[in-house]
Amino acid sequence: MRHLPAWRDWRRWIPAECPGCGRRQPGQGLCAHCLGQLAWDRAVPYCPVCRHPLRAGGCPDCPPGGPAYDRVVAAFAYAGLGRDLLQAYKTRRCLALAPVLADHLAAAVRQAEALQPPPDWIVPVPARRQGVRARGFSPAAELARLLAARLGVVYALDRVHRRHDGARQAGLNRAQRLHAPQGVYACGPSAAPARGGGRAPGPWAGARVAVVDDVLTTGATLQAVARVLKAAGVAHVQGWVLARTVSGRFSDARAAAPPGPDGRALQ
Ligand SMILES: [Zn+2]
Ligand SMILES: [Zn+2]
Repeated sequence: MRHLPAWRDWRRWIPAECPGCGRRQPGQGLCAHCLGQLAWDRAVPYCPVCRHPLRAGGCPDCPPGGPAYDRVVAAFAYAGLGRDLLQAYKTRRCLALAPVLADHLAAAVRQAEALQPPPDWIVPVPARRQGVRARGFSPAAELARLLAARLGVVYALDRVHRRHDGARQAGLNRAQRLHAPQGVYACGPSAAPARGGGRAPGPWAGARVAVVDDVLTTGATLQAVARVLKAAGVAHVQGWVLARTVSGRFSDARAAAPPGPDGRALQ
């Protein structure tokens, strides 16, 4: 594969169908129209920590005292085209979307200056075993792997694992979702806190970690993962997600993405 870099360069000029609307265009990613659909509304004030639109009383998702994670970078809102893309990737197993979505999230991470300083590892939220069996892949892990390669950060698949599958979040109400992930996640063996109450030894102590997931809803999963990482000595935890669920006028305004020219919105 000596000519792979040259091929990648050429590929930018080969016409292909936009995975968002089906229009043919030079290059392999989303067209300018679809990128515009995914852009965050700059007129809306967002929570600087969890990226939810702020309300008059503050952030509806951040717990009092703030969450265990330090900030969230979300590529787009879980509405309209963003929701369609995520469902095509995750539910309809459209793996060809993975590099397109990873490119988009990598751009959002750079734009948010979330690499200054860069995290020491990128960790995917561990998938439920049943989910991996049903889909054949972990959407978060695939995204994290591609993201790590694009951003030059170490991909650490097994630093966080699941103790058990826990309750499936889809179908739970908000209160149940907030409670469900508690006790589900744990760090790897080397993350055990030092005896005598000291900080964890080795690379965990003082580390900066980016936790990758496909969608952030209440933030409860990211909160649970961040808690175990911080208990292990990690100093800074970011959540890097493709989509952030939002409510209110923002999600309503974004819900009406135009269909493709042939009526086929997504492959
Ligand atoms: Zn498009
Ligand atoms: Zn918040």
